[in-house]
Amino acid sequence: MSHAAPDLVRVVQDIADEMRQRPDRGTVASYIPELANVDPGAFGIAVIDADGAVAAAGDSDMPFSIQSVSKVFTLTLALGMVGDKLWRHVGREPSGNPFNSIVQLERERGVPRNPFINAGAIAVTDVILSGHQPREALGEIVRFMQALAQDDTIAIDQAVAASEKRTGFRNTALANYMKSFGVIENPVEFTLGVYFHHCAIAMSCRQLATASRFLAHSGRNPSTGLSVVSPERARRINALMLTCGHYDGSGEFAYRVGLPGKSGVGGGIMAIAPGKASIAVWSPGLDAAGNSHLGRLALERLTKRMGWSIFGA
Ligand code: GLU
Repeated sequence: MSHAAPDLVRVVQDIADEMRQRPDRGTVASYIPELANVDPGAFGIAVIDADGAVAAAGDSDMPFSIQSVSKVFTLTLALGMVGDKLWRHVGREPSGNPFNSIVQLERERGVPRNPFINAGAIAVTDVILSGHQPREALGEIVRFMQALAQDDTIAIDQAVAASEKRTGFRNTALANYMKSFGVIENPVEFTLGVYFHHCAIAMSCRQLATASRFLAHSGRNPSTGLSVVSPERARRINALMLTCGHYDGSGEFAYRVGLPGKSGVGGGIMAIAPGKASIAVWSPGLDAAGNSHLGRLALERLTKRMGWSIFGA
């Protein structure tokens, strides 16, 4: 593997140094103990350029709960399985509502706005599950992540999965609601079981940045040559991340960072600089919209200093 350009290495290190010291860290998710107990002082960043060179700093090798970042990969898998038929189950518009809102679902007759809000991701998971046993579907998702990240050690944190299930009343409500409209095909408990478990996958920034390389390079990992999706599909997944990847904070993320990105309540954000780099940052403290506070700030610094915003310098 080649070395990252010295300016990128410097920028990444500067960002980690600044983020380590900042007092404003947001609020760590507290709905399950496994997330509530994460050190709010943690910060990691990994950037992989087009040549495969990695610039990483801070806790970039520490696994964290990827939560909703997993929704990008389940969307990719589901599109691979059923293609554009997926859009019968879920829309492609930003929600402007919190990630777990039920109100919009009623107005739109059980078809969720997009694949990244909880209801949409549950509908996508249901598509992956159809025709399979939950264990098989989950195995498929985990193997997909391992193959993309080139790391067989990636696994589900079973304690997180159990807590998600124990506290998942609202997700259960969303799934039942969609089921009543016929949007969910499988037994609700099976679909939710797979959903809770894929949200509970633990990965490091380095692993996430590796797994998302195909999105930065027209559907293909340029180092391994592995073609994951067509260039057109990669472009569209990126478009969805830009418009919907940060819930009702998506507009602010585009305004400040200017990259397609997907956040999770574990404090991770995966972002794509098309043609240039795949990026993952992690800082557990969240802002009011449920997105990593310092994660976004770190990405704002990175895109500004590298000139990577898709909207220009
Ligand atoms: N498992 C979480 C939930 O469904 C994911 C939410 C998130 O990361 O935004 O509530």
